[in-house]
Amino acid sequence: MKPTAAEQTEKPAHFIRKIIADDVAAGHTTVRTRFPPEPNGYLHIGHAKSICLNFSMAQEFGGACNLRFDDTNPEKEEDEFIQAIQQDVRWLGFEWDGAPRYASGYFDQLHEWAVHLIKHGKAYVCHLSAEETRAYRGTLTEPGRDSPYRNRSVEENLALFEQMRRGELPEGTCVLRAKIDMAAPNINMRDPTMYRIRHAHHHQTGDKWKIYPTYDFAHGQSDAIEGITHSLCTLEFEDHRPLYEWYLSNLPVPSMPRQYEFARLNLNYTVVSKRKLKQLVSEKHVSGWDDPRMPTLSGLRRRGYTPASIRAFCDLVGVTRSEGVVDVGMLEFAIRDDLDKQAPRAMCVLAPLKVTITNFDASVLEHFTAQLHPQKPEMGTRELPFTRELYIDRNDFRETAEKDFKRLVLGQEVRLRNAYVIRANEVVRGADGQIVELKCTYDPDTRGKNPSDGRKVKGVIHWVSAAHCLDVEVRLYDRLFTVEFPEEDKSKTFLDFINPQSLTILKGCKAEPSLARATPDTRYQFEREGYFCADSVESQPGQLVFNRTIGLRDSFGK
Ligand code: ATP
Ligand code: MG
Repeated sequence: MKPTAAEQTEKPAHFIRKIIADDVAAGHTTVRTRFPPEPNGYLHIGHAKSICLNFSMAQEFGGACNLRFDDTNPEKEEDEFIQAIQQDVRWLGFEWDGAPRYASGYFDQLHEWAVHLIKHGKAYVCHLSAEETRAYRGTLTEPGRDSPYRNRSVEENLALFEQMRRGELPEGTCVLRAKIDMAAPNINMRDPTMYRIRHAHHHQTGDKWKIYPTYDFAHGQSDAIEGITHSLCTLEFEDHRPLYEWYLSNLPVPSMPRQYEFARLNLNYTVVSKRKLKQLVSEKHVSGWDDPRMPTLSGLRRRGYTPASIRAFCDLVGVTRSEGVVDVGMLEFAIRDDLDKQAPRAMCVLAPLKVTITNFDASVLEHFTAQLHPQKPEMGTRELPFTRELYIDRNDFRETAEKDFKRLVLGQEVRLRNAYVIRANEVVRGADGQIVELKCTYDPDTRGKNPSDGRKVKGVIHWVSAAHCLDVEVRLYDRLFTVEFPEEDKSKTFLDFINPQSLTILKGCKAEPSLARATPDTRYQFEREGYFCADSVESQPGQLVFNRTIGLRDSFGK
């Protein structure tokens, strides 16, 4: 068998691997990377790209990768996110070096370095209002102007910064800025803010701090403290790199990390922005961060995606410096490819229609043995009880049909998968005229073989024994957005494009009895229907819920 995309071991070359390989060849013996999430939401498929890149580079070059929470913004309810992020990174198959780290763990050091810059005349306290600061900053085409506070003495700056630190000044009074160059072509170098006053509680540092560093003042120095060699980030930070380097070269940092940028992952029919995903959750458009329609790792996990399929997807996408949109079909390909090779087969009837085999004795119980996987006999077999009363799928029957309908038609024959050939003789209708039952006969001579008189029976349909099947709930998912680019139309919001049909709940589906063994997260191929996973949140013993991970074929738009 061909290896699945998930099993392929040969990794595609990309520019970051080349940079690191060259550094290693030049004698930088230790590679250390980091994954630095802000704990203000759950991880999504875009983060998976960054996780796979950072951890796999460390693994490949015998180095280590840190997990660092970029928690410079004091915010509430972060503990839930901190726990969920760790769970998701581990689920993807990676382990960080040592304990998780926190940017907030470096607040003392960062404060000391801010004082260092003040003492060297490279930082000052600025009392311009936010609006004035904007006006002074200039534009892409015009240089900025020096703040009137720019030439405060070192002593005055030290005293004011100390007042800020002690919480003696109200929020918004002033900020600490780096003294770089108000005429720099790169706006990030026009005396950027290093510290703001925030009288806020922080989930790690409590009420200790009344001032908080900006991302730019914290990130590079945190990298340096941790001995990060290659600081991999997305392209929007490219313009911040000169500032990243300015701080490192103007401070007595213990190491000199280098920043490299790559393109972020964008997927069509999907939003990957924590702010927007948060909105979907808080406005209850979905049931939570782990709703199986969400592109979060917890949503994909609950939907039935395997970690290997997500890693394979990230390999397929590759790492480049050009922004583009990846077709969500590629993610679907990766999971289908993985599950085809490993998911045990089972039969489950989603829209049950009762079938009575009139020439099969009601007191008889037969068993058929079916393989769990058609190409993998080593996976074993399952027993399929066969009785007088069965269920087939309503959509597999027609009273009259065109030639190309290869299923059951009144007066004609079909094979029940893994069992006999049956003929539909009569329909039974309920009071409302709906077909409620089929009366069929079976050909006892077709057990495991074709009819002996040479009759050709083309169609094969799935079925379960009415007396033995399990009642299960099945949830079918469609794309959460109806358009390819839900964020594109600026006159609307992405919420206007939510697909009202993204979730279909089917109750009373009939599953073969072997599914009683399903435990949360067990995955199956329901023959002829697709890949399904027992829901990890709402499945109860005796009342299983299955999520459709993905259909058997790429039928989108067809
Ligand atoms: P969002 O825009 O969803 O809030 P973020 O970049 O603010 O994302 P962080 O928690 O700060 O989220 O990101 C942690 C790491 O993941 C960063 O290094 C970031 O560059 C990376 N990352 C985030 N989104 C993507 C993406 N779509 N593709 C690749 N990497 C991403
Ligand atoms: Mg961020």
